[in-house]
Amino acid sequence: MTDLTGRTCLITGASSGLGAHFARIAGKAGARLVLGARRRDKLDALVAELEAGGLEALAVDMDVTDEASLIAAFDAGEARFGAIDTVIANAGITAPGRTTEVAADAFRNLIDTNLFGALLTAREGAKRMIAGGSRESGKGRILFVGSISSFAPIQGEVAYSAAKAAIVNLCRSLAREWLRQGINVNTIQPGYIDTELAGDWFSTEGGKAQIASFPRKRLQPVDSLDATVLYLLSDASLHMTGSVITLDDGQSL
Ligand code: NDP
Repeated sequence: MTDLTGRTCLITGASSGLGAHFARIAGKAGARLVLGARRRDKLDALVAELEAGGLEALAVDMDVTDEASLIAAFDAGEARFGAIDTVIANAGITAPGRTTEVAADAFRNLIDTNLFGALLTAREGAKRMIAGGSRESGKGRILFVGSISSFAPIQGEVAYSAAKAAIVNLCRSLAREWLRQGINVNTIQPGYIDTELAGDWFSTEGGKAQIASFPRKRLQPVDSLDATVLYLLSDASLHMTGSVITLDDGQSL
């Protein structure tokens, strides 16, 4: 059900956190990996780890806010592995603070990265999938990494929450547009997972109080996403598109 043998999967924001984890699980499931982000040293270390485990992976310099760099990353991936049929639009940042105190550039950069970057990633991926025969094969897969903040806004993260809400509509709009092109577009909405994104927040008193407020009083383990992610990337999800799956250990309840 979750075999990715024969697939080539490009992941944005693969240098840490969820993106690096998705690389490990998609690679183990058989996919060849094209791993993009800005911090090349972290990507190179991840590729070395994956290759040492017998997996095939390529690190590509990528800034999702820069269309030319995104296109070049897809080109490099296809030059190495052939057509890319699977994409995880995962790259993301935060712009924390009271709205009255956050600089316009910080908001703009967040929307550029988390929303516009995701749109460009999906668009470039879809072009490659269609050129690679997704219409006939039905194998095109695009997965957005949303967040429960799309419906349960995070205090002090207005632009982040707004961008994640927009991802929901982006997902459904693109799923509709590419229905007949054999491309399935879906979104997962995780809860709070301990990654670089939150910095040291969860070890502060405020962070501990937030964890205590969750129904299960815990952060979500990253591997709780594995089965759903692999399913959504695999042939098994042929009839699933435009879906937005909340997968948050009950944190938003
Ligand atoms: P991390 O900070 O660990 O990872 C973010 C990744 O995005 C990094 O690899 C970073 O790489 C990359 N990135 C940031 N800006 C750009 C850019 N302009 N171009 C390319 N890559 C970029 O955080 P997470 O793993 O937690 O976040 C990954 C995704 O998961 C995000 O979309 C986030 O919103 C989402 N998410 C996270 C949750 C959590 O609780 N952790 C919950 C729900 C959703 P680099 O700096 O090297 O470019």
